[in-house]
Amino acid sequence: MRAVICSHGELDVLERPEPVPGRGQVRISVLRCGICGSDLHARHGIDAWADMSARAGYDRLARSGDQLVFGHEFSGEVAEHGPGCRKDAPVGTTVVALPLLRGPQGIDATGLSIHAPGAYAEHTLVQESLMMPVPNGLGADVAALTEPMAVARHAVRRGEVGKRTVAIVIGCGPIGLAVILMLKSSGVRTVVASDYSPSRRALAGACGADVVLDPAQHSPYTAVPGRGHLEDIPSALELAVATREKLGRLPFGWWHAWRLAERLGAAPKHPVIFECVGVPGMIDSIVEGAPLFSRVVVVGVCVGTDQFTPAMAINKEMDLRFVIGYTPLEFRDTLHMLAEGEVDPSPLITGTVGLDGVETAFKMLANPEAHAKILIDPRSAVASPEPPAAMPGSRIPEPL
Ligand SMILES: [Zn+2]
Repeated sequence: MRAVICSHGELDVLERPEPVPGRGQVRISVLRCGICGSDLHARHGIDAWADMSARAGYDRLARSGDQLVFGHEFSGEVAEHGPGCRKDAPVGTTVVALPLLRGPQGIDATGLSIHAPGAYAEHTLVQESLMMPVPNGLGADVAALTEPMAVARHAVRRGEVGKRTVAIVIGCGPIGLAVILMLKSSGVRTVVASDYSPSRRALAGACGADVVLDPAQHSPYTAVPGRGHLEDIPSALELAVATREKLGRLPFGWWHAWRLAERLGAAPKHPVIFECVGVPGMIDSIVEGAPLFSRVVVVGVCVGTDQFTPAMAINKEMDLRFVIGYTPLEFRDTLHMLAEGEVDPSPLITGTVGLDGVETAFKMLANPEAHAKILIDPRSAVASPEPPAAMPGSRIPEPL
């Protein structure tokens, strides 16, 4: 079979033997595979990442000198069952799968470990227990987005965003856009999206963001006024003292009223901010600019060392949460949301290439104006993705 091999930062299309499914594994014929920002990063920076993951106990991530096949966002067709499979999904079934593979040495990350070559290839292996038939005739293109959409679903769930909470998405690359889609599909009424790139802002609008802005022109933190967010220390002190004064006018102990209010969930209003950029300085800029009590969900993967001032986050009693991946249930639910049309990620897909076009696609993805998500179709001969004619839904809602 043909596969894109990454070694020493070079991408080459080479012949490889078809993988043979081991116990509980299934060989699938790849229909589509998304090119992920983490693949772009891993092409040149996988050693730092491998070192870090080894420090957390997983030392089987590929090294730059290995012959690695990327690809962890895929859909495919069942081609062959390994021994011990239940075979609930017969040969020919369109499926997606979590990118994890159980081997004799343990569980490996598909597309990031040489022990589990990914889907930048005509065939790849999946774990039958983590494989799911694609329901409702959902197309292979959108099905391949189950993985990144599940990342977004997990991030949104970890953000615990109420429908009336203001959600602010910093960075509208594929993951930021996926977060916007998942926020809107979970009924969040006000989603603010911020990105320097006009194309990405257009896509954010197409994904349903209510306010889309250029952070060079407007602050995302003050774009939706009148929501009771506390912008500075004096307003927090005022809230505390004034609440105490008001409750003091009640005919019973103010502490009973305060305790009851806490039990009913009363708390200072705050936005939930999704950091979807992942470069040094982002957390610091959010800590500096965001309102008091903000909850920050860090989705963007910054591999380098970063710094911020904890005292500033303390001043604002910010809540910093870091997220990774998803559970098998979140993955399954995401697939069904896509298949039922509850969320439509098709605006994200800006191009498709064959295996020979992967190198060009990587170059194009380095420019945020050109593309968002490029899919690989291993059966296609397209060697260069079409430049997206006009980004869909180029309506940019005016910032408030
Ligand atoms: Zn990914």
